[in-house]
Formats: sequence, C-alpha cells, structure tokens
Amino acid sequence: MSTWHDYIQKEGSLPEWPYPIKYGEVKEVTSDVLVIGGGVAGCRAAISAAQKGAKVAVAERGHAKRSGAGGAGVDHWHGACTNPCSKVTPEDYTRAVFDSAHGYTSGAVRYISTREGWDTLLEAEEMGVQIRDVDDEFKGADFRDDETKLMFAYDYENKHILRVYGYDIKPRIYKEMKRLGVDIHNRIVATSLLTEGGKQGGRVVGATGVDTRTGEFVVFHSKATVISTGGAGRLYSFAPELTASSSMGDLNNSGVGQAIGWNAGAEFACMEQTGPGRLAGFGYAPYSMANAHNTYHGTPIVDADGKEVPWDDIEGRELKTIEERFLPCQGQRFILGEGIGLFFYNNEFRSMALTPKLPERIRNGEFKLPLYADLSRLPEMERKIIFGMMVAHEGKTRIPIYDAFTKAGFDPENDMLQAPVMLPGGYMHSNFWSAGINTPPNIRSLAGGGFLVDWDLRTSLEGLYAAGGAPLFGGGCHGESHTTGRYAGRRAADYAKTAPEPVAERQQIEAEKARAYAPLKQDRDGIGWKEINYAVARIMQDYCGQYKNELTLNHGLRLFKEIKETELATAYASNPHELGRLLECSSLISVGEMVMNASLARKASSLYLDFHRLDYPDMDPPDWQKLLPIKQTEGGVEVRALSFNHHLEPPNAPTYEENYQKHCGI
Ligand SMILES: Cc1cc2nc3c(=O)[nH]c(=O)nc-3n(C[C@H](O)[C@H](O)[C@H](O)COP(=O)(O)OP(=O)(O)OC[C@H]3O[C@@H](n4cnc5c(N)ncnc54)[C@H](O)[C@@H]3O)c2cc1C
Repeated sequence: MSTWHDYIQKEGSLPEWPYPIKYGEVKEVTSDVLVIGGGVAGCRAAISAAQKGAKVAVAERGHAKRSGAGGAGVDHWHGACTNPCSKVTPEDYTRAVFDSAHGYTSGAVRYISTREGWDTLLEAEEMGVQIRDVDDEFKGADFRDDETKLMFAYDYENKHILRVYGYDIKPRIYKEMKRLGVDIHNRIVATSLLTEGGKQGGRVVGATGVDTRTGEFVVFHSKATVISTGGAGRLYSFAPELTASSSMGDLNNSGVGQAIGWNAGAEFACMEQTGPGRLAGFGYAPYSMANAHNTYHGTPIVDADGKEVPWDDIEGRELKTIEERFLPCQGQRFILGEGIGLFFYNNEFRSMALTPKLPERIRNGEFKLPLYADLSRLPEMERKIIFGMMVAHEGKTRIPIYDAFTKAGFDPENDMLQAPVMLPGGYMHSNFWSAGINTPPNIRSLAGGGFLVDWDLRTSLEGLYAAGGAPLFGGGCHGESHTTGRYAGRRAADYAKTAPEPVAERQQIEAEKARAYAPLKQDRDGIGWKEINYAVARIMQDYCGQYKNELTLNHGLRLFKEIKETELATAYASNPHELGRLLECSSLISVGEMVMNASLARKASSLYLDFHRLDYPDMDPPDWQKLLPIKQTEGGVEVRALSFNHHLEPPNAPTYEENYQKHCGI
C-alpha cells in the first residue's frame, strides 16, 4: 500500500490505534540520574553519568537514536579550542563571545563548552564518529592539517572550528548509551518536575511523563535530574501541514523543559531576548537554496547575468580572492564563526561575508534577480567539501538535499542553485533560505535565554541541572550541546553519590496525573491541540513581537490566563499522541508567560537583545546593562538584578580556569 489514500480506499475506515492503551496505569522508574530529553546533549549527559557509575534513566519524546535538532547529523563542530592545531584558547574564545554578546550570555557555559569541546569530540571519535579525513580525500587542501588529518571551517588560520563527518553521530552515541546500560524510555512527553515536599523551589526529586503511544503515566524518581529538551520551536509560528519540509528545528521541541523548570521555581535569564523567526512552514528546506552562509560559507553568488556578488571584510574592504573568505582579514585576530547561538557579533570577530550593500545594489539595478550559487567557481577541494562532504553530513540535508539533488542529476561543477526571490532587504544576510530579515517583525524565536546555571551547570534548584542548546542560558550549537551534556551529566552523577534518597510527594503526583489526563475526559466537541498551538503563536505574535509595551505584554498575559481557563481547559485529545501535543501546548503557554514576564521586567530597549520596548525606547541605558533573572514563586514572579560578570565574582574565583578546575569533576 503506497499512500494514506490507498489505505482508506482499500479498508474503507481509519486504522485502529496501533498500540495498547494504558490510560491510568502508572509505571515507576528509579535512577540516580534522570535525563529529560535524549537529544545530543541528553545522550552525552546519560553517557557521562553512567561512566561515573550512576544508574541513569532517559525520558525522550521521540526515539533517542535519531531524535532532536542534532539527530540528523552535523558537519561543523564549533569551539574545539584545545585541538592540537587551534591558535585560539578557550579564554580568548569565551571573551570574544562574551564581549560580542555585550554580557548577555553565560561566560561559565561558554568557557566549559570550549574548554572541553575538543575532548568531547575525541570521545565521540572513540564511539565511531569520523572526525578526520582518514581516506586522504582532501589531502593538500588549505583547510586540512596533513599531520592530524583534521579539517577546518570559517577560519583556516586559527583552526578552532572542525569539519566533521557527523551524519551518524546520533546513532553512534545512542549505541554507547545502550552499551553502558542506560535505561531509555522513548516516546515520553515529560510533564512536570517533582520537588521535595511538593514545594515550588524545593529540591528536584524526579519528574512525571506520559507515554505518547500507550498513554501510560510514568513517574521518575531520581536523586539528580538533567534537563536537555532543546528549544521551543512552535512558540511564535505554527503551520502544521507545512513544517515537515521546512522546519529547521524539531517539532517535538516545544519548550517543555523550560516550562517544567519554570513551574518548579527555577531561575531563568534573558528570556526577553528574541530574534527573527525562521518562518517554519514558509521558508525553504534548510540548505536547499542558494546561499553563502554556514555550510555554504564561501560559495560564490552570481546574479541572473552571471555577475558575481563581491565579498567584503569586516571593514567593508572588498576581498580580491576566494581564499580570503576563509581567513581573518588584515588586523583581525580570529573569526568566531556563525551558528554558535550568538545573536550579536562584535565586528572584530565577524566572518567575511557577501557585501552588506547587496540590497541597495539590487535596488539600483546593479544586480539582477534571481541570484544563484555558482559552486563551479570554487577551487575543486572547496566545492567538494561543501557540496560533497558537508551537505551530506549536515543535519536534514543528506537525504532531501544531497541524495535527492544528486539523483536528479545536479552536478555542482556545472549546475547552479537558485536563491529565493525576496524583497531586496532579505539579501542583507547571506542565509537566504530561512527568510531571516524578510520575516515579519511579529514572528520571532527565542534567542539565547534559558536556565541560569552555576559552574556545575546546576540550576537554581538543588538536584536540577541543564544542558544543550536552547534550554541553557549561554548554550551554543551542536558541539557545545554535546559538551555541556557531558559536563552536566558528570556533575549530576557526582551530586547523586551523596544526595539523599528522592522522596516524591504522592499528592503532587496525583495532581499532575489528573492534569495530564484531563483532555481525555473532555467533550469530543472540545478543540484540539493544533488550534491551541495556533492561538498561542498568535498571542505571541500580536502581543510580544519585536515591538511591545507594558499594555501589549499585560494583554498577552491576560489572554494566556483566559485560554488556560477556557479553550485549554476544555480541549480534547482522542489518542495518546494528541494528548502529548496538548500537554506541549500548555508548556508553550508557560514559556510564553515567561517571555512576557521577562519582557515586562526590562524597562529599557536593547540593541544587543534585539529588544524594543515602545514605552522605554532608550537603547541600552547604563542602568539596565545587567541580567534580570526571573523565577516563579507561589505568590507571582520574582525578578532580581545580576551582574554580567557574576560567574567571576565571589563566591566564584576570579578566573575562568580556576572556576573550571574547582568544578569540572575530573
Ligand atoms: C538542520 C540542522 C542543522 C544543524 N547543523 C549544525 C551544525 O552543523 N553545527 C552546529 O554546531 N549545530 C548545528 N545545528 C544545531 C544543533 O543541531 C543543535 O544546537 C543541537 O542539536 C542542540 O542539541 P540539544 O541536545 O540541546 O537539542 P536537541 O538535539 O534538539 O535535543 C532535544 C531532545 O529533547 C527531546 N524532548 C523535547 N521535549 C521533550 C519532552 N517534553 N520530554 C522528553 N524529551 C523531550 C527531543 O525529542 C530531542 O531529542 C543544526 C540544527 C539543525 C536543525
């Protein structure tokens, strides 16, 4: 049977739910360390906790073998600062990121990510991931070190970003996790954290979840818990019928980790920071169109007449050769590289890029649309590494782009890729497929905020750690997520060694069970999860877009309150899958409330946070240059001020390395 329509025509009815239904049944799982979210960070957390001798359980929404934003692969690994060829130290790198973010990132997390990034990659190599050009395919290339066979991206001089053959990285670490005997629970949507005495702000002693195939309720008891559930992709835009082909993220990443942490009373930083949304459902399949960014960095872009768009250095000087696109320019110390979870770059660390005057030059007729990527103009090795190796290993591109295009006859030596035709302003950024600058100002995505953690990657709650890209304030991308996962798992296991037995409050479990199952008892006329998700996205767009004020934010909070009391309270789920999605919607509301509360707390605008309060238009006034961590308490929301440099102030040591040595647990 080839299609859904064939099936219905032949059978004449919808298929039965294919799994046994176990609503109301309870499974209890006990471990030293529980990892919620088995993406790359979560799997690495589980592995390092198990290596420390801890009994580890993982609760994963999809299937940990391929789940998460990193499940489909990776082609470049950032922050491998201690690799034998690197000329950038973890300290240099951390300072560059911290200064670029103007303090709105976590120096501790950035330092840990770069201090251990290379070691984490070496460990992945031991698990079978290819990180070197072992077959000498690129021997002699500018981006290769012939002794170590390592290959570099963005900055061939300083060599701290590695090109890796990461298509199978997730199955490899999954295999290692299984080998170490980790107790993996796939298809679970986590719904809450359990706290000592059932109290908000208390020590975390486990979590609850629902099996999205059987509907069974799962209670996890753990001495320590790591949250690594990725981002909140469906918060600002939701186009369920279209996401499959064009979503950059993972539909399962719906802010649940942040929401359950928020409801348990953990502290969060920078939740008010947002950036342009990726237009899931309206952009193009990642990396499918012409662009000169990220994996395609360095690619020549030509106009409809074949005229090449110039590249500029950070001072606006036109580059004369292709080689210069991969080197620091005159006077530049090193290039940080794109895709490190950083939304503001100081000029001194920026990559070479297509001229920022391109929009203006399109408008005045100098360049004629459409634009194309002409890979044939690259030296052979560069062409082969971009369209051969990188596109074949980058997440979500091996099958839909590399295989599909190649089978259809695409030959990068002879053919070109077309760029989307956009408003000229859209070509300001060299990533053309995600719509970026052309995204309407009300469609945003979270941009760097998350759990505030200390040098152990512990949150403000005892027993609760955070790791990975999005849920962690200061988290980066793929390599950094492995690294913070590996570190958090280790620290969680260390804590668990001497931590008291976890005792969960039965009342808290029963209350959560009743909440989780409520949609099953509703009238079938109740609306479903897609409508709720769409409404959440609409509220975020209308009341918490790029421009907001006290009134819009308070309206948004009021609407969330109302939706919880009306539509969400009567929403209906007809099977465990829909139940899981509805529970995620309630988490999206919590994340939305968090963003709005954080936005209310910041009574100033900020260029570095891309944060615009219409009622407080002053940009970055000195008094507001600080973090404003927020947490939920029984009585409401508490905000405090925290200095950017808190991670180097007492009781912490004054240097990155001293703190690292004190806390790393090695
Ligand atoms: C197409 C694509 C290409 C990329 N390429 C690169 C690259 O080349 N280099 C780079 O540095 N970065 C890259 N990235 C980014 C990188 O993949 C992410 O930064 C990284 O995967 C984040 O890791 P994570 O473990 O934090 O989150 P994820 O890998 O997204 O994992 C989160 C996990 O949590 C699970 N989860 C979510 N909610 C729940 C819940 N309620 N209960 C239980 N489990 C839950 C999810 O199922 C998922 O498995 C790319 C991303 C994409 C989408």
